[in-house]
Amino acid sequence: MQLKDIPVYDFMVIGCGPAGSTVATKLIRKGYSVLVFERTKFPRQHEGESLLPFCYPIFKELGVWDELKKHFVRKPGARFTNYDGKQSCTWFFKSVIPDESHLSFNVERAYFDDILMRNAIKNGVVVLEETKVEAVDKTRPDGLVAVNTVNKAGERQTWMGKYIIDASGQETFLAKRDGAKNAYQELDRIAWLGHWKGAHYKHGAEQGLIDIVHMGNGKKGWFAIQPVGKDLISLTMIVERQYMKEQKKLLMDMGIEDWQEAFYLKEIRECPVTQEVLCDAHMRARFVVVSDYSYFSDIIYGDNFALIGDSYKFLDPIFSTGVYLAMKSADLFAEAIHVKLNSDKEAGDQKLEETFKTIRGAYDLVEKFINIYYDPATLNLAELQSQASSNYEGYEEAFSLIHFLLAGDFFDNYDRYAKFLDMIKNPLKYEQWKSLIVDSVFDADKYHFSYEEIFGEIIDKT
Ligand SMILES: Cc1cc2nc3c(=O)[nH]c(=O)nc-3n(C[C@H](O)[C@H](O)[C@H](O)COP(=O)(O)OP(=O)(O)OC[C@H]3O[C@@H](n4cnc5c(N)ncnc54)[C@H](O)[C@@H]3O)c2cc1C
Repeated sequence: MQLKDIPVYDFMVIGCGPAGSTVATKLIRKGYSVLVFERTKFPRQHEGESLLPFCYPIFKELGVWDELKKHFVRKPGARFTNYDGKQSCTWFFKSVIPDESHLSFNVERAYFDDILMRNAIKNGVVVLEETKVEAVDKTRPDGLVAVNTVNKAGERQTWMGKYIIDASGQETFLAKRDGAKNAYQELDRIAWLGHWKGAHYKHGAEQGLIDIVHMGNGKKGWFAIQPVGKDLISLTMIVERQYMKEQKKLLMDMGIEDWQEAFYLKEIRECPVTQEVLCDAHMRARFVVVSDYSYFSDIIYGDNFALIGDSYKFLDPIFSTGVYLAMKSADLFAEAIHVKLNSDKEAGDQKLEETFKTIRGAYDLVEKFINIYYDPATLNLAELQSQASSNYEGYEEAFSLIHFLLAGDFFDNYDRYAKFLDMIKNPLKYEQWKSLIVDSVFDADKYHFSYEEIFGEIIDKT
């Protein structure tokens, strides 16, 4: 077959993670033809398990909310704990979100992504699994995009489309090939992820909370303890690459061959919080190590392409932001490109420009929040509850800002939150702000969630 005889899709998408499946479902519902290439076979393992309440409207619109409720542990909030476990502070989303969306999810990504992909297929999207994109030509004279793929059987094929959406995640397909990928040196971290059975559900885990434990001591890292099943804890460990290298050398000098495992277990044992949770537990399977860390792309969209989700930017997952950033960007992009294709050039261009300004603004806000987290002199989320109570009239606002940030309010008001974060970098202003945060509102008993509410009748996936 010659290129001119190949059918032309409206949109072709690389990758069927949360970004790819969301954008594909939205576009097919608007009447476009959509083809998705996914190099793996779902359900496939993936990192990133704690979701944010602000995902709720997207889940509802996609039509997967009820399905998610059947499968995944509910997450009422986030707890931040100091290394020794002596200070911690819990942020319950219910404090600021009055409806059912306050209870988010801790998911096993393999099944979560599978639900999203099946839903896309149900809506009419063609997904080619085990089909890897090898090359993309988006500079053809006719403006179309040609995609070359190879499938599991080794068969090579060429596909044509009007538009290519890169949702390839950390593969960063277009950014890499266009020489547009940049690393964030200051966020150079490395991650270990393991799933554990037989853990003690302590420190709020029994309430579905994600517990973030700051490692301090120059490690520039943290643990995330997340209940992802009735007897399943996910333990993520993130450390600065430099610290990891020093530890690797020490362990290898001691003759330990599997230094990665020895390092993960040593750090868990040394931290009083993780040790208490996992002392009687065992790993379900070998942990995963993720090293391609925190980067951004100089390009984000053009006449016939767009980068969505991790393919555009990946930020340290401390605040569990990646899935929501990816899905919301996909959602906004689908709306904007639909306007572009149905308006005059000026109005269409303006819509796309505004949309990508908002997407960039959201990512920049999260980046600012992360940088502040790694500077405990500025903001220690675990210590806020030790402040004295206050009846200051601006209290509601002061209290809700961090809640809404942790819940995912990045897109509509990113300027406002960015100003707030800049403000608390000033130690005096920070002290003033802290004094507005009242002890009692962090009282876990006040926000009691029953075991049934959190774990419900979760369907066993294994
Ligand atoms: C250690 C760690 C912990 C994290 N924790 C969280 C968390 O708790 N909460 C959260 O929200 N986020 C978390 N994240 C971030 C989250 O994993 C990502 O932000 C999210 O998966 C982005 O979705 P995506 O659709 O852009 O990319 P992905 O989910 O990575 O999907 C990309 C898809 O593209 C496919 N693909 C790649 N290349 C090709 C190709 N050439 N051809 C065909 N298919 C291809 C891949 O197989 C994959 O299925 C974490 C990340 C890490 C590293």
